[in-house]
Amino acid sequence: MENPDLCCPLCALVHTTADAQGLAWSSQHEPDGSVTWICGTCTRAQLWRIEAGLAVATPVGPAAAERLRPAA
Ligand SMILES: [Zn+2]
Repeated sequence: MENPDLCCPLCALVHTTADAQGLAWSSQHEPDGSVTWICGTCTRAQLWRIEAGLAVATPVGPAAAERLRPAA
């Protein structure tokens, strides 16, 4: 079963059942208990962050930029 919401937050590649059985993807455990999956390509690219103990990605994309306030 494929969950369309489950995709790499860095490149939007969909995490398929086949990927779940393989070891290419890495999991990042969020403070709220959810798990963010990061594809193999992005995992390799962000390996330095993993080794440094930093978060690799946010579970969702960056928040929309704040709209500019009209000049008073
Ligand atoms: Zn990716």
